[in-house]
Amino acid sequence: MKTLIKNGFLIDPRNRVQARLNLLLNNGRVVAVTQDEPTADRVIDATGLVVAPGFVDIHMHEDFVGEDGRLENDDKKAIFKCMLRMGVTTALGGECGINRYDPARYLDIVDRDGAAVNVALLAGHAFIREACGHTDKYTPATAEERKAMAQLLEKELDAGCFGISYGIRYTPGIDRTELLETARVCVPRHKFIASHVRDDAAEIFAAGREFLDVARELKLPAQFSHIGSMAGFGQMEAFLSFIAEYRMNGLDVACDCYPYYAFSTAIGATTYDDGWMERYHCGYDVIEICEGKYKGQRCTKTIFEEERRDHPEHLTVCYVMQEADVDRALRDPNVMLGSDGIMNNGQGHPRAAGSFPRLFAEFVRKGKLSLYEAIQKCTAMPADRMGLPGKGSLQAGADADIVIFDPDAIADRATFSEPTLAPTGIEYVFIGGDIAMQRGEIINGRLGKAVRKL
Ligand SMILES: [Zn+2]
Repeated sequence: MKTLIKNGFLIDPRNRVQARLNLLLNNGRVVAVTQDEPTADRVIDATGLVVAPGFVDIHMHEDFVGEDGRLENDDKKAIFKCMLRMGVTTALGGECGINRYDPARYLDIVDRDGAAVNVALLAGHAFIREACGHTDKYTPATAEERKAMAQLLEKELDAGCFGISYGIRYTPGIDRTELLETARVCVPRHKFIASHVRDDAAEIFAAGREFLDVARELKLPAQFSHIGSMAGFGQMEAFLSFIAEYRMNGLDVACDCYPYYAFSTAIGATTYDDGWMERYHCGYDVIEICEGKYKGQRCTKTIFEEERRDHPEHLTVCYVMQEADVDRALRDPNVMLGSDGIMNNGQGHPRAAGSFPRLFAEFVRKGKLSLYEAIQKCTAMPADRMGLPGKGSLQAGADADIVIFDPDAIADRATFSEPTLAPTGIEYVFIGGDIAMQRGEIINGRLGKAVRKL
């Protein structure tokens, strides 16, 4: 079926285009970009709206696989559906060292059943490590385990994973040898490495160096994960200079960031190991519990200790980052948007359902970024990092993954108490030339395919 999207204002930073042009879609691709009005089976009038490449989320945490071997599909719980409602058409999961399931098999499930968005994955270091028998996160892997990890990683990369992700913070037992021996597997395959680094706040420089020196030694592209929650405690200006220095000396490093001033992690995570209050200069009350009987409540010493002991898996939100630092990060030309969306049973941080529209509501409409810059951070930058010429672009021949939104109305509505609320102002999302979402309602939640890097 041929679809014509006419009268819209096309913004495509990959191709340096900001112009009134019509798009003709057919067989899953953009087949014409023109000032004419070619005939079509379906015509979408985008008068007054922005037409942009579908958003690419470079950093998120994929849905769980149920006991029936299928992806979470509940409208209120499935994170890929949250992604779709906020204009995302391709999402990269497997971040921070974590996979929900064997990634190669996960991609096969996406191909078999379809997903709400196109799904790409990194192989998570912690997943690989556990699969190879090392379950103690505080101790280094043995030589034999490292060898097994490299072999499993090879298999996952050859099945289409985009690289390896580390959650060094969550697996502090990892040492330089383990980092090097796993990252090295990416070199001949032209993949990249991403990391939630070992530490944050005042310790961010040493933690950043540990990761980036490995990338530099192996000449691998590096993605620095969620910089806002790592250096957003007064270090941002200095840390952006630190990253820029690596870049200017030859390392291909870029960063992602989500547009919120609070982070989210499980209450049992190493983030809250002894010393965390000194690190963030705060008390227990900066933590809000997202699940269970204390949902919505701020921590006291008693709640903190009870939850950490009885429900280490419960997600929390931690209100500690500095606004000026997060804003500075998102204005930096080398920082792209990454939602870091993560959900347990429909609960968690609103970034999973609000990050992309929020960038337009809070940054573009408040004058912190231009519309063009914001779209660049949501499309061309992440697609370039992933090496996907057909995504993040509306050029003739590109995949027909498209978002159409009202720049004056696009806004997030998800909150810390209702984290899956759909945004407003997004009129259409197309995946592969078909309508996946219209005005907040999912029309077809199975259009997404596995995206493999081979
Ligand atoms: Zn992380």
